[in-house]
Amino acid sequence: MKLFEQPSHVLHDMLVNNEITSLELTEAILSRIDEVEGDVKAYLTLTRDEAIAQAKAVDEKIARGEKISFLEGIPGAIKDNICTKGVKTTCASKILQNFVPPYSATVVNKLNAENAVILGKTNLDEFAMGGSTENSAYFPTRNPWNTECVPGGSSGGSAAAVAAGTAVWAIGSDTGGSIRQPASFCGVVGMKPTYGRVSRYGLVAYASSLDQIGPITKDVTDCAHILNIIAGHDDMDSTCVNEAVPDYTKALVEDVKGLKLAIPKEYFVDGMDPDVEKAIRDSIKKLEELGAEVVEISLPNTAHAISTYYLIAPAEAATNLERYDGVSYGERADGVDIVDMMTNTRSQYFGEEVKRRIMIGNYALSAGYYDAYYLKALKVRRLVKEDYDKAFEKVDVIVCPTAPSPAYKIGEKIDNPLEMYLQDVCTVPLNLAGLPGISVPCGFSSKGMPIGMQLIGKPLDEATLIRTAYTYEQSQDFHKSRAALGGK
Ligand code: GLN
Repeated sequence: MKLFEQPSHVLHDMLVNNEITSLELTEAILSRIDEVEGDVKAYLTLTRDEAIAQAKAVDEKIARGEKISFLEGIPGAIKDNICTKGVKTTCASKILQNFVPPYSATVVNKLNAENAVILGKTNLDEFAMGGSTENSAYFPTRNPWNTECVPGGSSGGSAAAVAAGTAVWAIGSDTGGSIRQPASFCGVVGMKPTYGRVSRYGLVAYASSLDQIGPITKDVTDCAHILNIIAGHDDMDSTCVNEAVPDYTKALVEDVKGLKLAIPKEYFVDGMDPDVEKAIRDSIKKLEELGAEVVEISLPNTAHAISTYYLIAPAEAATNLERYDGVSYGERADGVDIVDMMTNTRSQYFGEEVKRRIMIGNYALSAGYYDAYYLKALKVRRLVKEDYDKAFEKVDVIVCPTAPSPAYKIGEKIDNPLEMYLQDVCTVPLNLAGLPGISVPCGFSSKGMPIGMQLIGKPLDEATLIRTAYTYEQSQDFHKSRAALGGK
Protein backbone atom coordinates (compact mmCIF):
# COMPACT_ATOMS: atom_id res chain seq x y z
CA MET A 1 0.00 0.00 0.00
CA LYS A 2 1.10 3.55 -0.71
CA LEU A 3 1.56 6.05 2.11
CA PHE A 4 -1.56 8.02 1.15
CA GLU A 5 -3.63 4.86 1.55
CA GLN A 6 -2.59 4.19 5.13
CA PRO A 7 -4.54 5.09 8.27
CA SER A 8 -2.94 7.27 10.97
CA HIS A 9 -2.14 4.39 13.34
CA VAL A 10 0.00 2.64 10.71
CA LEU A 11 1.77 5.90 9.82
CA HIS A 12 2.30 6.72 13.50
CA ASP A 13 4.14 3.41 13.97
CA MET A 14 6.22 4.10 10.85
CA LEU A 15 7.19 7.52 12.25
CA VAL A 16 8.08 6.05 15.64
CA ASN A 17 10.20 3.31 14.00
CA ASN A 18 11.97 5.89 11.81
CA GLU A 19 10.72 4.20 8.64
CA ILE A 20 9.47 7.55 7.33
CA THR A 21 9.75 11.18 8.33
CA SER A 22 6.80 13.49 8.76
CA LEU A 23 8.18 15.60 5.91
CA GLU A 24 8.22 12.60 3.56
CA LEU A 25 4.69 11.73 4.60
CA THR A 26 3.42 15.30 4.24
CA GLU A 27 5.06 15.62 0.83
CA ALA A 28 3.53 12.29 -0.22
CA ILE A 29 0.06 13.56 0.68
CA LEU A 30 0.72 16.90 -1.02
CA SER A 31 1.74 15.08 -4.23
CA ARG A 32 -1.42 13.03 -3.97
CA ILE A 33 -3.28 16.34 -3.77
CA ASP A 34 -1.44 17.55 -6.91
CA GLU A 35 -2.41 14.34 -8.64
CA VAL A 36 -6.14 14.02 -7.82
CA GLU A 37 -7.46 17.21 -6.21
CA GLY A 38 -8.43 18.55 -9.64
CA ASP A 39 -10.88 15.63 -9.94
CA VAL A 40 -12.11 15.53 -6.33
CA LYS A 41 -12.07 19.21 -5.29
CA ALA A 42 -12.22 18.49 -1.56
CA TYR A 43 -10.35 21.61 -0.42
CA LEU A 44 -11.33 25.27 -0.28
CA THR A 45 -7.96 26.35 1.16
CA LEU A 46 -4.62 24.56 1.23
CA THR A 47 -1.98 25.54 3.78
CA ARG A 48 1.00 23.83 2.15
CA ASP A 49 3.78 25.99 3.62
CA GLU A 50 2.40 25.75 7.15
CA ALA A 51 2.01 21.97 6.74
CA ILE A 52 5.63 21.57 5.61
CA ALA A 53 6.84 23.73 8.51
CA GLN A 54 4.78 21.69 11.01
CA ALA A 55 6.18 18.43 9.57
CA LYS A 56 9.78 19.66 9.83
CA ALA A 57 9.25 20.66 13.45
CA VAL A 58 7.97 17.17 14.27
CA ASP A 59 10.97 15.57 12.53
CA GLU A 60 13.31 17.71 14.61
CA LYS A 61 11.54 16.54 17.73
CA ILE A 62 11.89 12.90 16.67
CA ALA A 63 15.58 13.48 15.86
CA ARG A 64 16.05 14.79 19.43
CA GLY A 65 14.76 11.43 20.63
CA GLU A 66 11.52 12.86 22.05
CA LYS A 67 8.36 10.79 22.20
CA ILE A 68 5.56 11.74 19.82
CA SER A 69 1.83 11.61 20.38
CA PHE A 70 -0.65 9.76 18.18
CA LEU A 71 -1.42 12.35 15.52
CA GLU A 72 1.91 14.12 15.71
CA GLY A 73 3.33 14.70 12.23
CA ILE A 74 0.32 13.15 10.48
CA PRO A 75 -1.48 15.33 7.91
CA GLY A 76 -5.21 15.90 8.08
CA ALA A 77 -7.88 18.43 7.18
CA ILE A 78 -10.48 20.60 8.89
CA LYS A 79 -13.97 21.39 7.65
CA ASP A 80 -14.19 25.03 6.64
CA ASN A 81 -16.86 25.93 9.20
CA ILE A 82 -14.37 25.40 12.05
CA CYS A 83 -12.32 28.48 12.92
CA THR A 84 -8.60 28.43 12.28
CA LYS A 85 -6.68 31.47 13.51
CA GLY A 86 -5.07 33.31 10.61
CA VAL A 87 -6.49 30.89 8.02
CA LYS A 88 -9.59 31.79 6.01
CA THR A 89 -12.81 30.15 7.27
CA THR A 90 -15.54 30.62 4.68
CA CYS A 91 -18.27 28.09 5.58
CA ALA A 92 -18.35 27.69 1.77
CA SER A 93 -20.32 30.94 1.69
CA LYS A 94 -19.64 34.09 -0.31
CA ILE A 95 -20.62 36.14 2.73
CA LEU A 96 -17.48 34.90 4.53
CA GLN A 97 -15.25 34.74 1.46
CA ASN A 98 -12.59 36.91 3.12
CA PHE A 99 -13.18 36.02 6.77
CA VAL A 100 -9.98 35.21 8.68
CA PRO A 101 -10.81 34.27 12.28
CA PRO A 102 -8.81 35.92 15.06
CA TYR A 103 -8.93 32.69 17.11
CA SER A 104 -9.03 28.92 16.62
CA ALA A 105 -11.75 26.49 17.63
CA THR A 106 -11.00 24.42 20.74
CA VAL A 107 -10.78 21.32 18.56
CA VAL A 108 -8.15 23.01 16.37
CA ASN A 109 -6.20 24.11 19.45
CA LYS A 110 -6.24 20.51 20.66
CA LEU A 111 -4.99 19.22 17.31
CA ASN A 112 -2.29 21.89 17.28
CA ALA A 113 -1.23 20.93 20.81
CA GLU A 114 -0.86 17.41 19.44
CA ASN A 115 1.36 18.77 16.62
CA ALA A 116 -0.91 17.28 13.98
CA VAL A 117 -0.08 18.58 10.49
CA ILE A 118 -2.96 20.59 9.05
CA LEU A 119 -3.20 20.58 5.27
CA GLY A 120 -6.12 22.94 4.84
CA LYS A 121 -9.83 23.55 4.99
CA THR A 122 -12.38 21.32 3.31
CA ASN A 123 -15.47 22.07 1.26
CA LEU A 124 -19.02 21.82 2.61
CA ASP A 125 -22.57 22.79 1.85
CA GLU A 126 -22.88 26.50 2.61
CA PHE A 127 -23.06 26.87 6.41
CA ALA A 128 -23.36 23.05 6.58
CA MET A 129 -26.88 23.18 5.13
CA GLY A 130 -27.21 20.24 2.82
CA GLY A 131 -26.33 16.63 2.23
CA SER A 132 -24.33 16.62 -1.02
CA THR A 133 -21.78 19.48 -0.90
CA GLU A 134 -23.56 20.85 -3.99
CA ASN A 135 -24.71 23.83 -1.89
CA SER A 136 -21.14 25.09 -1.58
CA ALA A 137 -20.99 28.60 -3.04
CA TYR A 138 -17.68 27.66 -4.71
CA PHE A 139 -17.90 24.23 -6.38
CA PRO A 140 -19.28 20.78 -5.66
CA THR A 141 -16.88 18.17 -4.29
CA ARG A 142 -16.84 14.84 -6.13
CA ASN A 143 -16.99 11.32 -4.77
CA PRO A 144 -13.60 9.59 -5.17
CA TRP A 145 -15.36 6.28 -5.93
CA ASN A 146 -17.11 7.82 -8.93
CA THR A 147 -16.44 11.47 -9.66
CA GLU A 148 -19.86 11.83 -11.31
CA CYS A 149 -21.43 11.24 -7.88
CA VAL A 150 -21.78 13.45 -4.81
CA PRO A 151 -19.57 12.70 -1.78
CA GLY A 152 -22.51 13.38 0.54
CA GLY A 153 -22.58 16.33 2.89
CA SER A 154 -22.31 18.60 4.43
CA SER A 155 -18.79 17.42 5.41
CA GLY A 156 -18.32 16.15 1.84
CA GLY A 157 -14.87 17.70 1.46
CA SER A 158 -13.59 16.04 4.64
CA ALA A 159 -14.96 12.59 3.72
CA ALA A 160 -13.80 12.82 0.09
CA ALA A 161 -10.30 13.88 1.17
CA VAL A 162 -9.94 10.88 3.50
CA ALA A 163 -11.31 8.52 0.83
CA ALA A 164 -9.05 9.99 -1.89
CA GLY A 165 -5.92 9.88 0.28
CA THR A 166 -5.57 13.65 0.14
CA ALA A 167 -5.86 13.72 3.95
CA VAL A 168 -5.05 10.91 6.37
CA TRP A 169 -7.81 12.03 8.73
CA ALA A 170 -10.33 14.86 8.82
CA ILE A 171 -12.64 16.72 11.13
CA GLY A 172 -16.29 17.32 10.27
CA SER A 173 -19.43 18.65 11.91
CA ASP A 174 -22.81 16.94 12.16
CA THR A 175 -26.13 18.69 12.75
CA GLY A 176 -28.38 16.14 11.05
CA GLY A 177 -25.98 13.60 9.56
CA SER A 178 -23.18 15.66 8.06
CA ILE A 179 -20.37 13.44 9.35
CA ARG A 180 -22.05 10.05 9.08
CA GLN A 181 -23.73 10.36 5.67
CA PRO A 182 -20.66 11.56 3.73
CA ALA A 183 -18.59 8.89 5.54
CA SER A 184 -21.11 6.31 4.31
CA PHE A 185 -21.07 7.70 0.73
CA CYS A 186 -17.24 7.75 0.61
CA GLY A 187 -16.54 4.38 2.30
CA VAL A 188 -14.87 5.78 5.42
CA VAL A 189 -15.64 5.89 9.15
CA GLY A 190 -17.44 8.93 10.62
CA MET A 191 -18.56 9.53 14.18
CA LYS A 192 -20.95 12.07 15.63
CA PRO A 193 -20.23 12.03 19.36
CA THR A 194 -22.88 12.68 22.02
CA TYR A 195 -24.06 16.30 22.04
CA GLY A 196 -21.62 18.07 24.37
CA ARG A 197 -18.86 15.42 24.24
CA VAL A 198 -16.72 17.66 22.00
CA SER A 199 -16.50 21.43 22.39
CA ARG A 200 -18.32 23.48 19.78
CA TYR A 201 -16.32 26.60 20.57
CA GLY A 202 -15.15 27.97 17.23
CA LEU A 203 -17.56 25.90 15.16
CA VAL A 204 -19.59 28.39 13.14
CA ALA A 205 -23.11 27.80 14.42
CA TYR A 206 -25.77 26.31 12.16
CA ALA A 207 -28.29 24.86 14.66
CA SER A 208 -26.69 25.14 18.07
CA SER A 209 -28.80 22.53 19.89
CA LEU A 210 -27.92 19.91 17.26
CA ASP A 211 -24.36 20.74 16.07
CA GLN A 212 -21.49 18.49 17.07
CA ILE A 213 -17.90 18.06 15.85
CA GLY A 214 -16.39 14.62 15.16
CA PRO A 215 -13.73 12.62 13.30
CA ILE A 216 -13.77 11.18 9.78
CA THR A 217 -11.14 8.45 9.38
CA LYS A 218 -10.06 5.46 7.33
CA ASP A 219 -10.89 3.01 10.11
CA VAL A 220 -12.33 2.62 13.60
CA THR A 221 -8.90 2.59 15.29
CA ASP A 222 -8.15 6.09 14.01
CA CYS A 223 -11.63 7.20 15.06
CA ALA A 224 -11.02 6.10 18.67
CA HIS A 225 -7.64 7.84 18.83
CA ILE A 226 -8.92 11.11 17.39
CA LEU A 227 -11.96 11.11 19.69
CA ASN A 228 -9.49 10.80 22.60
CA ILE A 229 -7.81 13.98 21.39
CA ILE A 230 -10.85 16.15 20.70
CA ALA A 231 -13.32 15.08 23.43
CA GLY A 232 -13.63 16.74 26.81
CA HIS A 233 -14.96 19.64 28.80
CA ASP A 234 -14.32 23.20 27.69
CA ASP A 235 -15.10 26.33 29.67
CA MET A 236 -15.66 28.14 26.38
CA ASP A 237 -18.72 26.01 25.52
CA SER A 238 -21.38 25.95 28.23
CA THR A 239 -23.12 22.97 26.61
CA CYS A 240 -19.97 20.86 26.74
CA VAL A 241 -20.46 18.04 29.28
CA ASN A 242 -18.21 18.00 32.30
CA GLU A 243 -17.56 14.26 32.43
CA ALA A 244 -14.21 12.47 32.35
CA VAL A 245 -13.17 11.21 28.92
CA PRO A 246 -12.50 7.48 28.91
CA ASP A 247 -9.61 6.12 26.84
CA TYR A 248 -11.56 5.12 23.75
CA THR A 249 -8.70 2.99 22.42
CA LYS A 250 -9.47 0.55 25.27
CA ALA A 251 -12.70 -0.19 23.37
CA LEU A 252 -10.73 -1.45 20.35
CA VAL A 253 -11.44 -5.05 21.24
CA GLU A 254 -12.96 -7.77 19.08
CA ASP A 255 -15.79 -8.77 21.31
CA VAL A 256 -19.53 -8.29 20.98
CA LYS A 257 -20.53 -11.36 22.95
CA GLY A 258 -23.58 -10.67 25.04
CA LEU A 259 -24.14 -7.22 23.54
CA LYS A 260 -27.78 -6.50 22.82
CA LEU A 261 -28.28 -4.97 19.38
CA ALA A 262 -31.61 -3.66 18.14
CA ILE A 263 -32.95 -3.25 14.62
CA PRO A 264 -35.51 -0.43 14.51
CA LYS A 265 -38.10 -1.42 11.95
CA GLU A 266 -38.91 2.21 11.07
CA TYR A 267 -35.39 2.76 9.71
CA PHE A 268 -35.96 0.37 6.83
CA VAL A 269 -38.08 2.90 4.99
CA ASP A 270 -40.14 2.50 1.82
CA GLY A 271 -38.06 3.30 -1.20
CA MET A 272 -34.83 2.24 0.48
CA ASP A 273 -32.23 1.04 -2.01
CA PRO A 274 -32.28 -2.80 -2.04
CA ASP A 275 -28.46 -2.94 -2.08
CA VAL A 276 -28.39 -0.89 1.13
CA GLU A 277 -30.99 -3.05 2.82
CA LYS A 278 -29.12 -6.24 1.88
CA ALA A 279 -25.74 -4.90 3.04
CA ILE A 280 -27.19 -3.86 6.41
CA ARG A 281 -29.11 -7.11 6.96
CA ASP A 282 -25.97 -9.13 6.05
CA SER A 283 -23.88 -7.05 8.44
CA ILE A 284 -26.36 -7.54 11.26
CA LYS A 285 -26.20 -11.30 10.59
CA LYS A 286 -22.43 -11.06 10.81
CA LEU A 287 -22.64 -9.29 14.19
CA GLU A 288 -24.99 -12.02 15.37
CA GLU A 289 -22.50 -14.70 14.28
CA LEU A 290 -19.86 -12.82 16.22
CA GLY A 291 -21.88 -13.26 19.39
CA ALA A 292 -24.25 -10.29 19.64
CA GLU A 293 -27.88 -10.80 20.47
CA VAL A 294 -30.20 -9.12 17.95
CA VAL A 295 -33.79 -8.03 18.59
CA GLU A 296 -36.26 -6.00 16.56
CA ILE A 297 -37.64 -2.82 18.14
CA SER A 298 -39.97 0.00 17.22
CA LEU A 299 -39.12 3.70 17.42
CA PRO A 300 -42.60 4.94 16.47
CA ASN A 301 -41.84 8.66 16.30
CA THR A 302 -39.12 8.24 13.67
CA ALA A 303 -41.66 9.19 11.01
CA HIS A 304 -41.90 12.70 12.50
CA ALA A 305 -38.16 13.27 12.89
CA ILE A 306 -37.58 14.85 9.46
CA SER A 307 -40.36 17.42 9.79
CA THR A 308 -39.28 18.17 13.37
CA TYR A 309 -35.65 18.62 12.34
CA TYR A 310 -36.56 20.81 9.36
CA LEU A 311 -38.37 23.20 11.70
CA ILE A 312 -35.90 23.27 14.58
CA ALA A 313 -32.72 23.44 12.48
CA PRO A 314 -33.92 26.31 10.23
CA ALA A 315 -35.36 28.16 13.27
CA GLU A 316 -31.99 28.05 15.02
CA ALA A 317 -30.21 28.81 11.74
CA ALA A 318 -32.35 31.88 11.10
CA THR A 319 -31.33 33.20 14.51
CA ASN A 320 -27.65 32.23 14.22
CA LEU A 321 -27.31 33.74 10.77
CA GLU A 322 -28.70 37.11 11.88
CA ARG A 323 -25.11 38.12 12.63
CA TYR A 324 -24.25 38.30 8.92
CA ASP A 325 -25.64 41.76 8.51
CA GLY A 326 -22.81 43.53 6.67
CA VAL A 327 -21.86 45.27 9.93
CA SER A 328 -20.17 42.79 12.23
CA TYR A 329 -19.12 39.93 9.98
CA GLY A 330 -18.19 39.24 6.41
CA GLU A 331 -19.02 41.00 3.18
CA ARG A 332 -20.99 44.21 2.87
CA ALA A 333 -22.99 45.35 -0.15
CA ASP A 334 -23.82 48.98 -0.98
CA GLY A 335 -27.12 50.52 0.11
CA VAL A 336 -28.77 53.94 0.43
CA ASP A 337 -29.33 53.40 4.16
CA ILE A 338 -28.62 50.71 6.74
CA VAL A 339 -31.72 48.63 6.04
CA ASP A 340 -31.02 48.74 2.31
CA MET A 341 -27.36 47.80 2.93
CA MET A 342 -28.35 44.82 5.10
CA THR A 343 -30.97 43.64 2.62
CA ASN A 344 -28.55 43.89 -0.28
CA THR A 345 -25.77 42.16 1.67
CA ARG A 346 -27.91 39.19 2.60
CA SER A 347 -29.57 38.98 -0.82
CA GLN A 348 -26.28 39.05 -2.70
CA TYR A 349 -24.05 36.94 -0.50
CA PHE A 350 -26.26 34.11 0.80
CA GLY A 351 -27.00 31.14 -1.47
CA GLU A 352 -30.45 29.75 -2.32
CA GLU A 353 -30.56 26.98 0.30
CA VAL A 354 -29.42 29.26 3.10
CA LYS A 355 -32.10 31.80 2.16
CA ARG A 356 -34.72 29.05 2.02
CA ARG A 357 -33.87 27.96 5.56
CA ILE A 358 -33.79 31.51 6.92
CA MET A 359 -37.28 32.00 5.49
CA ILE A 360 -38.60 28.70 6.92
CA GLY A 361 -36.98 29.41 10.28
CA ASN A 362 -38.30 32.93 10.63
CA TYR A 363 -41.75 31.78 9.56
CA ALA A 364 -41.78 29.02 12.19
CA LEU A 365 -40.65 31.48 14.87
CA SER A 366 -42.99 34.32 13.99
CA ALA A 367 -45.78 35.39 16.33
CA GLY A 368 -48.90 33.42 15.54
CA TYR A 369 -47.03 30.47 14.05
CA TYR A 370 -44.59 29.87 16.90
CA ASP A 371 -46.94 27.57 18.86
CA ALA A 372 -48.14 25.71 15.81
CA TYR A 373 -44.70 25.02 14.39
CA TYR A 374 -41.65 25.68 16.56
CA LEU A 375 -43.17 24.80 19.95
CA LYS A 376 -44.85 21.71 18.53
CA ALA A 377 -41.55 20.62 16.98
CA LEU A 378 -39.89 20.89 20.39
CA LYS A 379 -42.58 18.63 21.86
CA VAL A 380 -42.12 16.05 19.12
CA ARG A 381 -38.37 16.24 19.64
CA ARG A 382 -38.99 15.09 23.20
CA LEU A 383 -41.07 12.15 21.91
CA VAL A 384 -38.29 11.10 19.54
CA LYS A 385 -35.88 11.17 22.48
CA GLU A 386 -38.27 9.15 24.66
CA ASP A 387 -38.46 6.40 22.01
CA TYR A 388 -34.70 5.97 22.32
CA ASP A 389 -34.72 6.18 26.13
CA LYS A 390 -37.23 3.35 26.22
CA ALA A 391 -35.26 1.25 23.74
CA PHE A 392 -32.00 1.75 25.61
CA GLU A 393 -33.53 0.34 28.79
CA LYS A 394 -33.32 -3.05 27.05
CA VAL A 395 -30.57 -2.82 24.42
CA ASP A 396 -27.00 -1.52 24.13
CA VAL A 397 -26.73 -0.44 20.49
CA ILE A 398 -29.21 0.28 17.70
CA VAL A 399 -28.16 -0.81 14.21
CA CYS A 400 -29.53 0.62 10.96
CA PRO A 401 -28.46 2.10 7.62
CA THR A 402 -26.69 5.47 7.65
CA ALA A 403 -28.53 6.61 4.52
CA PRO A 404 -31.34 5.08 2.47
CA SER A 405 -29.19 5.00 -0.68
CA PRO A 406 -25.57 5.03 -1.78
CA ALA A 407 -24.12 8.21 -3.33
CA TYR A 408 -26.19 9.54 -6.22
CA LYS A 409 -25.25 11.56 -9.29
CA ILE A 410 -24.32 15.24 -8.98
CA GLY A 411 -27.36 17.29 -10.02
CA GLU A 412 -29.82 14.43 -9.51
CA LYS A 413 -31.63 15.82 -6.45
CA ILE A 414 -30.46 19.40 -6.15
CA ASP A 415 -33.64 20.92 -7.67
CA ASN A 416 -35.88 19.04 -5.27
CA PRO A 417 -35.25 20.19 -1.68
CA LEU A 418 -37.93 17.90 -0.25
CA GLU A 419 -36.37 14.79 -1.79
CA MET A 420 -33.02 15.97 -0.47
CA TYR A 421 -34.42 16.45 3.06
CA LEU A 422 -35.99 12.97 3.04
CA GLN A 423 -32.51 11.47 2.57
CA ASP A 424 -31.75 12.44 6.17
CA VAL A 425 -34.33 10.06 7.64
CA CYS A 426 -31.80 7.75 9.35
CA THR A 427 -29.45 10.41 10.69
CA VAL A 428 -31.48 13.35 12.03
CA PRO A 429 -33.28 11.49 14.85
CA LEU A 430 -29.96 11.03 16.71
CA ASN A 431 -29.21 14.74 16.60
CA LEU A 432 -32.69 15.52 17.94
CA ALA A 433 -31.98 13.13 20.82
CA GLY A 434 -28.33 14.19 21.28
CA LEU A 435 -27.10 10.59 20.91
CA PRO A 436 -23.78 9.36 19.54
CA GLY A 437 -23.64 7.55 16.20
CA ILE A 438 -20.98 6.05 13.98
CA SER A 439 -21.04 5.07 10.32
CA VAL A 440 -18.81 2.17 9.36
CA PRO A 441 -18.27 0.79 5.83
CA CYS A 442 -20.34 -2.38 5.37
CA GLY A 443 -20.45 -3.16 1.66
CA PHE A 444 -20.83 -1.89 -1.87
CA SER A 445 -23.78 -1.38 -4.18
CA SER A 446 -24.07 -3.22 -7.48
CA LYS A 447 -22.53 -0.09 -9.05
CA GLY A 448 -19.52 -0.28 -6.75
CA MET A 449 -20.47 2.61 -4.44
CA PRO A 450 -19.79 2.27 -0.70
CA ILE A 451 -22.55 1.64 1.85
CA GLY A 452 -22.39 2.56 5.54
CA MET A 453 -23.92 0.91 8.59
CA GLN A 454 -24.96 3.23 11.40
CA LEU A 455 -24.61 2.25 15.05
CA ILE A 456 -26.46 4.39 17.60
CA GLY A 457 -25.45 4.43 21.27
CA LYS A 458 -26.58 5.59 24.69
CA PRO A 459 -25.55 9.10 25.74
CA LEU A 460 -21.78 9.24 26.34
CA ASP A 461 -21.41 5.57 25.43
CA GLU A 462 -19.13 6.11 22.43
CA ALA A 463 -16.95 3.28 23.78
CA THR A 464 -19.58 0.63 23.08
CA LEU A 465 -20.06 2.02 19.57
CA ILE A 466 -16.31 1.81 18.97
CA ARG A 467 -16.18 -1.73 20.31
CA THR A 468 -19.09 -2.88 18.12
CA ALA A 469 -17.83 -1.07 15.02
CA TYR A 470 -14.29 -2.38 15.54
CA THR A 471 -15.42 -5.98 15.99
CA TYR A 472 -17.48 -5.75 12.82
CA GLU A 473 -14.72 -3.98 10.87
CA GLN A 474 -12.12 -6.60 11.77
CA SER A 475 -14.41 -9.40 10.56
CA GLN A 476 -14.28 -8.19 6.94
CA ASP A 477 -12.18 -6.11 4.54
CA PHE A 478 -14.40 -3.19 3.49
CA HIS A 479 -12.26 -0.66 5.36
CA LYS A 480 -9.22 -1.78 3.38
CA SER A 481 -10.78 -1.03 0.00
CA ARG A 482 -9.63 2.21 -1.60
CA ALA A 483 -11.28 4.31 -4.28
CA ALA A 484 -9.65 3.59 -7.65
CA LEU A 485 -9.45 7.28 -8.38
CA GLY A 486 -8.06 7.97 -11.83
CA GLY A 487 -7.33 4.24 -12.09
CA LYS A 488 -4.48 4.56 -9.58
N1 GLN B 1 -28.46 17.23 5.55
C1 GLN B 1 -28.83 17.85 6.77
C2 GLN B 1 -29.23 19.29 6.49
O1 GLN B 1 -29.26 19.64 5.37
C3 GLN B 1 -27.74 17.76 7.77
C4 GLN B 1 -26.70 18.80 7.67
C5 GLN B 1 -25.69 18.75 8.77
O2 GLN B 1 -25.62 17.78 9.53
N2 GLN B 1 -24.93 19.82 8.89
O3 GLN B 1 -29.48 20.06 7.36
